[in-house]
Amino acid sequence: MLTCLQGSRLIDPSAPGAKPGGEVADLWWRDGRFVSAPESGTVADQIIDGSGCITMAGGIDLHTHIGGGKVTLARMLLGDQMPPWREATRFAGEDAASCEFLPSASVTASRYLDMGYTTCFEPAVIPCNARSAHAEMADVRGLDTGGYCLLGNDDVLLRLIADDEPQEVINAYVAWMVQATRCIAVKVVNPGGINAFKFNQREMDVDTQHPKYGITPGQIIRTLCRAVSEIGLRHPLHVHCSNLGVPGNIESTLATIRAADGYPIHLTHAQFHSYGAEGPYKFSSSAAKLADALKANPNVTLDVGQIQFGQTVTISADAMHQYDNRNLAKPRKSVLLDIECEAGCGVVPFKYARREFVHSLQWAIGLELFLMVDDPSRVFLTTDHPNGGPFTAYPHLIALLTDRSLRETALAEIHSDAAAASSLAGIDREYSLDDIAVMTRSAPASI
Ligand SMILES: [Zn+2]
Repeated sequence: MLTCLQGSRLIDPSAPGAKPGGEVADLWWRDGRFVSAPESGTVADQIIDGSGCITMAGGIDLHTHIGGGKVTLARMLLGDQMPPWREATRFAGEDAASCEFLPSASVTASRYLDMGYTTCFEPAVIPCNARSAHAEMADVRGLDTGGYCLLGNDDVLLRLIADDEPQEVINAYVAWMVQATRCIAVKVVNPGGINAFKFNQREMDVDTQHPKYGITPGQIIRTLCRAVSEIGLRHPLHVHCSNLGVPGNIESTLATIRAADGYPIHLTHAQFHSYGAEGPYKFSSSAAKLADALKANPNVTLDVGQIQFGQTVTISADAMHQYDNRNLAKPRKSVLLDIECEAGCGVVPFKYARREFVHSLQWAIGLELFLMVDDPSRVFLTTDHPNGGPFTAYPHLIALLTDRSLRETALAEIHSDAAAASSLAGIDREYSLDDIAVMTRSAPASI
C-alpha cells in the first residue's frame, strides 16, 4: 500500500542538505518503508493530511526505567498510593508527577507513542534478572525496547580486576555477559560502591579502595570503558557516578571523566551529579563546571535526569545512596535489597517540592545543564523516569527549553533563594525544533 503524508513540516537536521527549521513537503511510504516521491500523477492508496503538523523521526529515550524487578517492587510498595489511571486526561508538569509517576506497561506504551517516541531503553538490567526484564518490556507494546547490562559491582569482575587479569580476559567476560543478557550496552552504577556497601562501607569516592578487593571505582571505570570500546559496542559505558545526590559531588563526576582516560563515556542523570557545597545551604550548582568539562572532553556525553515537582518514586541499583535516602521517603516506607551478589536495589518514594531549597535548585541545575551544553547532540532529554519525575513531563520540559518567558515564569515559582542562587535567569538560549530533533532523535540514534 502506498501512503502519502501531505503538507507537514519535515524536521530532520541529520538528513543531508536539510534546511534549518525543516520544510513543508510530502512524505511517502510503501508497505512500511519510506520511498521517494513517485512520478507526478501517482495517486496514493491512503492520504493523511499533515497540514499544520510537524513530522520528526521516532523519539528515542536512552534512559527510562520501564522494566525489571525494581519497577515491579515499586508498584507493589506503592499499590495503595496509586490513584486510578485517568486514561482520557492529559497531564503536564506537576499534575503528571502526581498522577502518573509509575504507569503500567500498557499506559507507558501509549504515553510514549502519544509523544512520538518509538524506542526506549531500560538502563539497569541486572544479569540474573535479564529474562524477566525483557519479558516485562515485551508488554510495553508498540515500542522498540532494549536494555543495558549492569556490571561493575559483580564479584567476578571485581576479582578479575583485583587479580590483574589481562584486559582480553575482561573483554571476553563483558562480551559474554552482554550476549547472555541480550543487552546492547553496559551500565555501571556507583562503581564498586554497591558491592562495598555489603562490607559495611557507607561512602565511596572515585579513588577509595574497595574494602575487600582493594581496587578503586576509577579502575573499574577505566577497565569497563576500555572493554566496551574494544568489544565494539556502539553505546559508550553508561555511568551512574559515585556519590549520587551528595553536595560537592561534582569533584567525583570530574574524576570519573578523568578515569575514562579518553575512552567514550556517557554520564547518566548528570543533574544528580552536578552539585557544589557552597553558600548558606552548603548546596550549590556546578552545572557550569560540568558543561566546561564536556567542552574539554569530546569523549563525554550525558543525559540530564531533570526533576519535576510532585510525587514520584526513586528506584535505583545504588543501594548505598538509597540507604541514606530512606530517611527522606515520602510516604515513609522503602525497600532495600541485595540481588544475587550482582548488584543492589533501593526503592524510595519521594516528593519534590517547590518550597524546598534543595529540590528547587535541583530543578534549576537540570535546566542549566540543558542550556549550558551548547551541542544538543551531547546532552539528552531524560527525567531518569521515574527518579526525577515521570517521562510524561517531556512536553512540558521541551516547552521550558524552547521558551525563555515560560522558564522565567516557572523560575519565579520556585524557592526564592534557589532562584537567586541559579544562573538560569541570565540564560537567553532557546532550543529550536532542530535542536529538539537532534537531542531526542538523531543524536541518541547515533550513540
Ligand atoms: Zn536511572
